[in-house]
Amino acid sequence: MDTCKSCNAWGNHHLTLEDGKQIHLCDDCYNAWFCERLGLDYGLYKHPASISVLGKRFMVRMEIFVSGVAYFAYRGKGKRLESICFVGSFLMSGAEAMKELRSKVAFRTYRPTMEEGMLNDMGSVGIVENDQNSDKLDFLIDGKRYSEEQFLDLLRIHSGSNLVYLLEQRVPNPDSQWVTLAEHLPKGIAGDEEDLWDDPDWDDENL
Ligand SMILES: [Zn+2]
Repeated sequence: MDTCKSCNAWGNHHLTLEDGKQIHLCDDCYNAWFCERLGLDYGLYKHPASISVLGKRFMVRMEIFVSGVAYFAYRGKGKRLESICFVGSFLMSGAEAMKELRSKVAFRTYRPTMEEGMLNDMGSVGIVENDQNSDKLDFLIDGKRYSEEQFLDLLRIHSGSNLVYLLEQRVPNPDSQWVTLAEHLPKGIAGDEEDLWDDPDWDDENL
């Protein structure tokens, strides 16, 4: 198990720097390093370690991406892991992002995707590889796995409907490890976004 270079926590980010040196960083120290590289204030994205929504507690993780900040809410473990993601802009604080993440979690958990054996008109379906056969897919609905055949049977009930979908990136497992080459990461945020910090008329709708 690799130890974080900066704080001795578990170093799950294995980063090769431009000089070829490999260092291990924990989630927190990697995000801080990437923020500094992009010229962002890491303090802006502070968030609580967990949030409670409708009486259920969710662990919160954050990850700085090239195009924004992703906040992940997790509950449960292993194959029953529930995960929900909200991606905010670099201008949005961690506190503001928590409001958005909470409402997304509330929406997803208050109303299950499936009720009485039928898909609801809105919901979330995870698409994952089958453990035994990588040519096959499994579908995760409300923390349960369905085979391709079972999922097709579910769709068959809705024959004659349109399936309107929103494709989202799957939330990484909190135990994942990342291998990154620093040379692949930008130094500074893309485009003209830097100028927007000084523009009083700019708001999130312009994104
Ligand atoms: Zn650390």
